[in-house]
Amino acid sequence: MNQKHGEYKLPDRKQALKRTRDAVTASYDLFAVPQQASQLGVGKKYYLRTYGCQANVRDGETMAGMLEMMGFAPCDNEEEADLLLFNTCAVRKAAEDRVLGEIGSLKTLKRQYPSKLIALCGCMAQEEEIVDLLIRKYPQVDLVFGTHNLYRLPELLYRCMHGGERVIEVFSEEGKVVENLPVHRSHPSKGFVNIMYGCNKFCTYCIVPYTRGKERSRRKEDILKEVLSLQKEGRREAVLLGQNVNAYGRDLGMEDGFTDLLCDCADTGIERIRFYTSHPRDYSISTIEAMRRYPNIMKSLHLPVQSGSDEILRRMARGYTAGSYMKLYDEMKERIPEITFTTDLIVGFPGETDEQFQKTLDLVDYCKFDLAYTFIYSPRSGTPAASMPDDIPMEVKKERLQILNDRIADSALANNRRLEGKTVKVLCEGRSRKKEDVYSGYSEENKLVNFTGPDGLENQIVDVKVTGIHSFSLDGEAL
Ligand code: SF4
Repeated sequence: MNQKHGEYKLPDRKQALKRTRDAVTASYDLFAVPQQASQLGVGKKYYLRTYGCQANVRDGETMAGMLEMMGFAPCDNEEEADLLLFNTCAVRKAAEDRVLGEIGSLKTLKRQYPSKLIALCGCMAQEEEIVDLLIRKYPQVDLVFGTHNLYRLPELLYRCMHGGERVIEVFSEEGKVVENLPVHRSHPSKGFVNIMYGCNKFCTYCIVPYTRGKERSRRKEDILKEVLSLQKEGRREAVLLGQNVNAYGRDLGMEDGFTDLLCDCADTGIERIRFYTSHPRDYSISTIEAMRRYPNIMKSLHLPVQSGSDEILRRMARGYTAGSYMKLYDEMKERIPEITFTTDLIVGFPGETDEQFQKTLDLVDYCKFDLAYTFIYSPRSGTPAASMPDDIPMEVKKERLQILNDRIADSALANNRRLEGKTVKVLCEGRSRKKEDVYSGYSEENKLVNFTGPDGLENQIVDVKVTGIHSFSLDGEAL
């Protein structure tokens, strides 16, 4: 459905979920688009800026792949670029405001160089009010497209460049999973692999089910093919991605599809497998067992809890209690004692009392997280929580965030103390951005390790002796 100004509406997701899934997969063929479109970028440069989660990073890699097949070359600044592409995130208002600020500041550049094309895509483009705003107040934006039709980028660009028209194309329904899209991977040592798209959970604060649609799993054979191709390219790690990976395969009628997929990915022999993001409600014992059994499934788990208060969790519609989360935590620790945990936490959800916040601190003390992504609650328009009074003053939210961050830093430091003097296996991602003579990479426990060593360690799995600890990183020397 091609949405024009004024016609676009946020899809009713609950209704959409009732639809049965039809033809699941389509194959992408760049050269099925008009011949002229496949040569559009010859002699031109693109600048791509991606915000937000790893799913967005993976989308950015696909768009980079398509653009390069069309002849575009990448560049790292807006002045040099013929095409500026903003791949956006809608999860937090602050991030949206930043994007709008940046796009706003491009007005002058566009006036000076009218032939430059400015495009906005990603989750913000799936929001009706943002699309309206762009149409009314941001005439410098030439192209807007959403998360469900990014595979149409070549054709949309063709219409922009040759039709001289402003193109707004946002699909309100998910459509098919499109396979065989080109990709330009951003990491030499690891590769992101989408296993599914969308989310059916409808946590009351979250906009993702509205911007990314209902759950659609890729076929297992397509996923395994991608994991094997990573190996062939010399990459050491596959990072399996989904908003709720534990729901993988349900839409295809599989039971416990994620564990099954995880084991098959591990059987490919790739050296490391990680996966994001898990949901405590859907996590199965069989997945814990797979993690325990396969040495190439890394023993680190990102398991968002969001709050330690049962009442807040109920109002967030998370579908579990603090007690059931801690039970799952205990089960994992019992089966895999060395497992490390990271999480997501929100402070200042509507109505959160001091006592309820204290319950979050209690849970943090219990689980001794290695890292947490902590956020101040901000309402997202169109979500159920946005109609609850946002009644916690900002200074209280900030104070709670500080207390929480200090608590997490303490537990992470205490956990890291256990690694001091030990040897960890680090996948070396290259030289550190901060110090030229230092490498950086991630250990099996998913700790960021900065270490010294001889030349040529890039993309190697290196034994590193831990010589120094911080809350969220380790220092070391290659052995
Ligand atoms: S599980 Fe909840 S927080 Fe995560 S993407 Fe789905 S709706 Fe959003």
